[in-house]
Amino acid sequence: MTKQRVIIVGAGLAAFVLADRLYKEKEVVIITKESIQQNNSLKAQGGVAAAIDTNDSAEIHRQDTMKAGVQYNDPSAVEVLTKEGTERIKEWIHAGFPFDKDQYGKILLGREGAHQKRRILHVGGDQSGKYLVSYLQEKLRKNIMIIENEMAVECIMWEGRCKGINTIDNRDHYHSYYCDHLILATGGCGALFETTSNDRTVTGDGIAIAYKAGARIEDIEFIQFHPTMLKQNSKGHHFLISEAVRGEGAILVDQNDIPFMAKYHKDLDLAPRDVVTRAMVTEEGLGNQVYLKIDMIEHFSERFPQISSLCEEMNINWKSGYIPVIPGAHFLMGGIQTNLKGETTVPGLYAVGETASTRVHGANRLASNSLLECIVFANRLADWLIKKEETTSIIQASRSYNPSTRECIDLPTIAEIQAKMMKYVGIEREEKGLKKILEWLRSYQVHHISSITDKFYSKKQIEQLHMTTVAWLIASSAIERKESRGAHYRSDYPSKNDGQWGNRRIIRTFQQKANINVSNQAIER
Ligand SMILES: Cc1cc2nc3c(=O)[nH]c(=O)nc-3n(C[C@H](O)[C@H](O)[C@H](O)COP(=O)(O)OP(=O)(O)OC[C@H]3O[C@@H](n4cnc5c(N)ncnc54)[C@H](O)[C@@H]3O)c2cc1C
Repeated sequence: MTKQRVIIVGAGLAAFVLADRLYKEKEVVIITKESIQQNNSLKAQGGVAAAIDTNDSAEIHRQDTMKAGVQYNDPSAVEVLTKEGTERIKEWIHAGFPFDKDQYGKILLGREGAHQKRRILHVGGDQSGKYLVSYLQEKLRKNIMIIENEMAVECIMWEGRCKGINTIDNRDHYHSYYCDHLILATGGCGALFETTSNDRTVTGDGIAIAYKAGARIEDIEFIQFHPTMLKQNSKGHHFLISEAVRGEGAILVDQNDIPFMAKYHKDLDLAPRDVVTRAMVTEEGLGNQVYLKIDMIEHFSERFPQISSLCEEMNINWKSGYIPVIPGAHFLMGGIQTNLKGETTVPGLYAVGETASTRVHGANRLASNSLLECIVFANRLADWLIKKEETTSIIQASRSYNPSTRECIDLPTIAEIQAKMMKYVGIEREEKGLKKILEWLRSYQVHHISSITDKFYSKKQIEQLHMTTVAWLIASSAIERKESRGAHYRSDYPSKNDGQWGNRRIIRTFQQKANINVSNQAIER
């Protein structure tokens, strides 16, 4: 019997966990935009949250996740994450994965903001993502096909079902790949913003692709801004200073060494990320510069080897006890709507990892829950796909083509999109700014374009097109939600409005004319 073909778009943790579970049963192909080293997963420092300690429980982890998400999370998704998360991480431990341990062989558990317990498992100090992903990449290299430097452009649709993916390579040649199941594991959209911790390839493409294929996009206004990125002179990707550093005792101070978080929240430096981020914006507005004071952390370079060596590379003298920091875009809570098995609303199309919206994070993500999300939901999707034995018809051989004529399209540059997103759809939003950016984005009309492949745009143009589409989806959702909740802060509506918004989702679907649907719609689990 021929094996079913599964194509996974993206090469982060979600993709590799899924591939690892599937490669014996299916023909697995990973297609990724640049090299397999380009993703957010490899950058993850803090670690992975799981209730493995005897004084902890999945129930306490569930409570913390719901609280961080402002109770906007789907409780059933959170229960899955925290319960199955504990089981999955115990499996990794039993399989001998080298989580950091003390001299007695006990797993070291870090602490991060809004966790009642120490429950962050880490590897190589602050190199958790690197160890997790490299381990899987090494294991799978010979067992699956990996296609690098090809960017997914558009789903191949046939009678309402997703049958594959069109891609474009670095020479602007197009390729069509057919499959039984197409999985988008393309990560979030941090690189839509001028200051971000995210890899430059993480531009929200999967969301634009799913949207154009007819999938529901939801909660996309909820974008987490992380308070502590290393302040650099350049724009774009900024190196993250993990929250685990504050978990170990570091505090935020101004240029006069004065701590300021007591003015803003009872939990001080470990207050929710949106609170700390806005406090920093206020301090900067007062003309202050913000530093992370780390001199109380003993053996800093042993506990945080990556952070200390990167500071050195960038000529930041961490040994002075101060690291200059700024906030930036970090994590997308919403995304492509899926059920708890990873199915989108389009048959044959699935999403997993940060690009998926299972509603597990609610309005704000609890620190170190996202690597766990990748592990738990990729395993669930694998279980589901393994059960699906029937192959679909109309599987064709892959084909490549180099079109002789190409259409051109007027699009904003990537730098323009990033600057305007940071300014108008960033940490603080308000109607006037949102209207301004929407008017600008609308003038390009990209969210109405239904078919991209037949226009044969260049790779660069397609990336701009995806980014413009997703920017428009975020800005138009942010203007719709007239309240502040978790990571979505409207300075013109600074309070939470449970009566009007507590249980309402902004869901976007593409129907030639984009459709905004504000609803209490439940997902079929
Ligand atoms: C600096 C940093 C530190 C973090 N620290 C932690 C932490 O300590 N703990 C934690 O739980 N979470 C952390 N996070 C969040 C976490 O790393 C991510 O949420 C998670 O790794 C996402 O994994 P993913 O597999 O969904 O996507 P990613 O790892 O982002 O991978 C997405 C992949 O899709 C590819 N791609 C995108 N578009 C296309 C396209 N059109 N065609 C083909 N390929 C495409 C990208 O190139 C990339 O390979 C951190 C994030 C960052 C940025």
